[in-house]
Amino acid sequence: GMNIKGFMKKNWLLIATVIAVVLGIGLGLLVREYTSLSHLERQYFGFPGEILMRMLKMIILPLIMSSMITGIAALDSEVSGKIGLRAVVYYFTTTIFAVILGIILVVSIKPGVSHKHFGSTGTTPNVTTVDTILDLVRNMFPENLVQACFAQYKTKRVELPPPPPKVQPENATLTPPLVTTLMAVMENVTKEYKITGSYSEGMNVLGLIVFCAVFGLVIGKMGARGRILLDFFDALNEATMRLVQIIMCYMPVGILFLIAAKIIEVEDWAIFGKMGLYMATVLTGLAIHGLLILPLIYFILVRKNPFTLMLQMAQALVTALMISSSSATLPVTFRCAEENVGIDKRITRFVLPVGATINMDGTALYEAVATIFIAQLNDYNLDVGHILTISITATLASIGAAGIPNAGLVTMVMVLTAVGLPANDVTLIVAVDWLLDRCRTMINVLGDAYGAAVVEKLSKGELERMDVASDVDMANP
Ligand code: ASP
Repeated sequence: GMNIKGFMKKNWLLIATVIAVVLGIGLGLLVREYTSLSHLERQYFGFPGEILMRMLKMIILPLIMSSMITGIAALDSEVSGKIGLRAVVYYFTTTIFAVILGIILVVSIKPGVSHKHFGSTGTTPNVTTVDTILDLVRNMFPENLVQACFAQYKTKRVELPPPPPKVQPENATLTPPLVTTLMAVMENVTKEYKITGSYSEGMNVLGLIVFCAVFGLVIGKMGARGRILLDFFDALNEATMRLVQIIMCYMPVGILFLIAAKIIEVEDWAIFGKMGLYMATVLTGLAIHGLLILPLIYFILVRKNPFTLMLQMAQALVTALMISSSSATLPVTFRCAEENVGIDKRITRFVLPVGATINMDGTALYEAVATIFIAQLNDYNLDVGHILTISITATLASIGAAGIPNAGLVTMVMVLTAVGLPANDVTLIVAVDWLLDRCRTMINVLGDAYGAAVVEKLSKGELERMDVASDVDMANP
C-alpha cells in the first residue's frame, strides 16, 4: 500500500489547498471578530485572491483555443461527430435529471410557503425566452474574434412610445366602458418593442469554442499543410498546461485570501436563518445529484468506482467551490482529468471546454428550485404546463449561463418571465447566491468530469481503431 509520505508527496497541492481553505475561513472569522475593516481595507485584503483569479482567467484563452483545435483536428470528422453527439446526449440527459430532481424537492419541501414575509418586488419583464435563445445563437457566431475574448452580446428590450391615440369620429361621442377596457387590453398586447443590444463584460467562450471546433475540423481535413498548424496548436497546448501547473502552485495562497475576504465581506448572516429552508432544498438537491445520481450513471456506464474519480477530481472541485466559476476552473479540471483520472486527451480536449460552457447540472437544478420557490412566495399556483415550461427554460437557462460567478441568477430572469413571475424577484434570492453559486459550480464541474469519463468509455472502440490506424501509418510511411 501507499504510505503517508507517498500520499503527501503525490497530493501535496490538494492538501495545501484544503489547508488553505480551512485557514482562510479561520482567518476571516478572526478578522471579523476582532477588527472592523473599512471597505478599502477589505479590498486590499482580497488582493492575493484577486491575483489568482486574474491568472486563471488569463490562461483560459490559449487553453480553450489549443485544446479545442487539437481535440477536433486529431479525430476524423466522423469520429468527432459521434463523440460530440455522445457528449451532448450525456449533458442533456443529466441536466434534465437535475431539473426534475430540483422540482421534486422544492415541490415537496415547499420552502417558500412558510416565508410570506418576503414581499414580491414585481415589475414587468424585459427579456423573453426568444431573446435569450437568439442571444445564445448570436454569441455562437461572434462578429469579432478579438472582441469575443472579453465581451458577450446581450439583447435589451426597449419599449417604444405608444402610438398616437386614434382620432375619434365626431359622431361617436360616448364609448361604452367595456370597449375602452378592451381597447386598453389590446393596446397592451400589441405593445411595441425594439430590440437593441450591447456587449457586456465576460468572455464569449461559446463563440470561441464554435470557431475553434470548425477551425479544427478544417485543419484536420487539410492533409500535410494542416499538420503544421496541428503541431503548432499541439505544442501551444502543452506549453499552456505547463503554465497551468505553475499557476496552481500559487493556488493555496490565493484561495486562502479569497475565502477570508469573502467571509469578512458578508454583511447579513441573519438572512441564512430566514432563507434556511430554501438553501437546504438547493443544497440537498445538489448533494443528491452529485453524490448519488451522477455516480450511479457513471457506475452503470463505466463500471468503475465513481468515488475514485471524485477524489481524483478533488483539486478541481475545491477550486470551483472557492471561485464560483466553471470557466476559470477549467485549467484545473483539465489537469485533474488528464493527469489524475487519466482520461484520453483526445476526449478531454474537446469535451471539457464544451462541458464547462454548456453543461451545468447544478445551475439547472438551482434555477428550477429558485423559480418555484419564488412562485411559492408569490402564492402563485403552478399547473403542469408551468412545471413543464420551467423544466425546459431552466435547462436552456443553464446552457445559456456563462461559466462565471452568479451567471445563473442572470439567466433565471428568462425562467421567471416564461411562467409569468416578476423578473425583479430574483432580488429576493441574491443575498444568499454567493454561497449557493459556489456549490452549484462545484456540481457543474463534477458533471463535466463524469461526462468526459463516460464519453471516453463509450468511444473506446473508435479511439482504439484510430490507434491501430496510426500504428499502421507509422509502419508504412
Ligand atoms: N457560477 C456558475 C458556473 O460558473 C454559473 C452559475 O452562476 O450558475 O458554473
